[in-house]
Amino acid sequence: MALLSRAMDGRLRPIIRMGHPALRQRAVEAAPDRFGTRMLRDLGRDLVRTMHDGNGVGLAAPQIAVGLRAFAYYLPGDDADELPPRVLVNPKLTFLDEPTELGWEGCLSIPGLRGLVPRHGLIRVDARDVDGAPLSFEAAGFHARVIQHEYDHLDGILFVDRMTDMSSLTFEEEWDEFGTRKDLPVEV
Ligand SMILES: [Zn+2]
Repeated sequence: MALLSRAMDGRLRPIIRMGHPALRQRAVEAAPDRFGTRMLRDLGRDLVRTMHDGNGVGLAAPQIAVGLRAFAYYLPGDDADELPPRVLVNPKLTFLDEPTELGWEGCLSIPGLRGLVPRHGLIRVDARDVDGAPLSFEAAGFHARVIQHEYDHLDGILFVDRMTDMSSLTFEEEWDEFGTRKDLPVEV
């Protein structure tokens, strides 16, 4: 809880939506002298605060029109699988399997829509925190998915670009109502 309440010190920033050109640009690495500065610490706090406000599990700097390679994410869940908010700067991903795991994704920059996206199920992550401390770990399943989604934002890529079957693109209300049940009778 301490982490969360500190994160709430951040400022709420407007989230830009699909169609804004900044979402399609490649973000640049934070220079070494940026680590530990007020600017990068504030950016991290703002990302976490804005992510929580939007009920998202991740938010990348380009989504608030900041062209730096940084994003925030967290994993909701019960004690064991919960991960408190974390900010990764200048991340590098190494894929440890094929991108064959299908899962549902949404995006704070594409509000109201969800779709099935194939992702790698196991990745290695090498990044820095806002103070420059190295963070290296492996991530699997949903954890790996969230990181790949946020990482794509740093290269100007949105989840819809990764979809291989557009027929799963669904509004949230319909997703809640019908879920993944494709066998429902269709009225014609
Ligand atoms: Zn997104």
